[in-house]
Amino acid sequence: MNIVLLGAPGAGKGTQAGRIAEKYGLTHISTGDIFRANIKGGTEIGKLAKSYIDAGKLVPDEVTCEIVKGKLAEVSANYMLDGFPRNVFQAEELDKFAKIDLCLNLAVDDKLLMERICGRRMCACGESYHVSTLNGATTCKKCGKELYRREDDNPETVGARLDTYNKQTSPLIGFYEKQGKLATIDCGAMTPEQVFGCVEKVLDKYIK
Ligand code: AMP
Repeated sequence: MNIVLLGAPGAGKGTQAGRIAEKYGLTHISTGDIFRANIKGGTEIGKLAKSYIDAGKLVPDEVTCEIVKGKLAEVSANYMLDGFPRNVFQAEELDKFAKIDLCLNLAVDDKLLMERICGRRMCACGESYHVSTLNGATTCKKCGKELYRREDDNPETVGARLDTYNKQTSPLIGFYEKQGKLATIDCGAMTPEQVFGCVEKVLDKYIK
């Protein structure tokens, strides 16, 4: 079972991806995480990616597609792509080297997204929080590490990221709908637990 996880920045892809990977035994492949690891490691890819990420733009397709192609050569089945594809070109390329069974689309209102991302705090273990629920805490409840704010989670970059999503990524909803592979979860103001309940209802039908 190979899944594409689709959703605007702040829709909760990272949170749901962690839970899905754990419950269904899927390998989680996040292009955003790959770029951030490259930036941290000071690689050539990292240097190139940083300028695009800081501007809220997409890293060029050739670079991104090559990275994913390389990953999928190692992980041939039972994976979940998080943050890829990000436009129709990438989706068409993906269809040339992978067989996607399902696109899980996490739909959230634009207004909520901005608020969520700007208050988001991350932990290196993969957990994420919102300042409104932290009561001043600065460490992760799960592993105790210090929380941090992603560099691109600031109001200026978030505006550009949402714009990029609406213009370039949202057409993928129609792309996968046409292929008969789309399952949309209307997350609205649901808690992550409630969203995961909906995710389970969809995935239990596919994964026995
Ligand atoms: P994410 O962690 O998925 O929000 O990604 C963070 C940033 O990495 C995005 O805003 C893009 O600049 C870049 N990025 C991640 N995935 C892709 C992709 N599939 N294509 C191009 N850029 C990407």
